[in-house]
Amino acid sequence: MRVEILGSAAGGGFPQWNCNCRNCRSLRAGTLRATSRTQTQVAVSDDGRAWFLLNASPDLRLQIERTPALQPREGVRDSPITGVLLTSADIDQIAGLLSLRELQPFRIYCTPSLQKVLREDNSAFGMLNRVPRQVCWTSVQPGERFPLMDVEGAGSGISCEVFSLAERYPMYVSAERVAQLSSEEALLGVMLTGASGMRLAYLPAVPAISEQLLRLVETADMLLFDGTFWSDDELIQVQGGGATAREMGHVPISGPDGSLHALAGLRRPRKIFIHVNNTNPMLDESGPEYREVRAAGWEVAEDGWQLNL
Ligand SMILES: [Zn+2]
Repeated sequence: MRVEILGSAAGGGFPQWNCNCRNCRSLRAGTLRATSRTQTQVAVSDDGRAWFLLNASPDLRLQIERTPALQPREGVRDSPITGVLLTSADIDQIAGLLSLRELQPFRIYCTPSLQKVLREDNSAFGMLNRVPRQVCWTSVQPGERFPLMDVEGAGSGISCEVFSLAERYPMYVSAERVAQLSSEEALLGVMLTGASGMRLAYLPAVPAISEQLLRLVETADMLLFDGTFWSDDELIQVQGGGATAREMGHVPISGPDGSLHALAGLRRPRKIFIHVNNTNPMLDESGPEYREVRAAGWEVAEDGWQLNL
């Protein structure tokens, strides 16, 4: 299975347009040993021809133009992008769908609750279904295992399992709507298995690490894990107020309850942090935080990485 990291930052990217934190300021000034990053986007393919996007980032158009494998190959209208798997209704995970509205058929996998939010509450997404056989919405449930297919139903060699990680919907979803939705469909984790049996765990947003989650990721060969925040109070330290990492649905990396400690016993998977917020001190490659995660066997994803499983 081929895995392309098209984007590796959390919402806002790095640097973020309105952010003057130490990281963003120093990156703009050219004084930080760090790499700029677009908002998290991953694409996978088993055969190198049919590609599936894991979510659809606001930077998707730029990311496709940077990635030859995702560009048209033949005819006037063409795309290797065969499908999109959505793990949540967060704007950072869905906004890119609006960049895919040019009558190109593809499949979208998501929970029935996400379909309600996108298709019934947000009329802009109707542009994905202006004509018959444009976008094929396919419902998936937590706990389900299913093959990733093209719009005609042809298999791709990749099978997918999704599981529930959180019960909270984005703030833009009304309380009235949330009351009609299934709480376990709000945020999914993903395990992909290629034709060779190699497994990729994709978890860019993890609110808490359970024993069950630990057992599952130990079965993966590669783990792309929530690297949003270094510490629980990171944004509060930078902004002087606001929410903690955990309140925002992200287990922090550091500390006794952090992901670095909780996942220290993992033996099997290659471990990569992704979805890194621009405030995260780990982005500074000359700093102690970066050294600490590298010494613990972790990598920090960068845009443009091409990985093979
Ligand atoms: Zn910043």
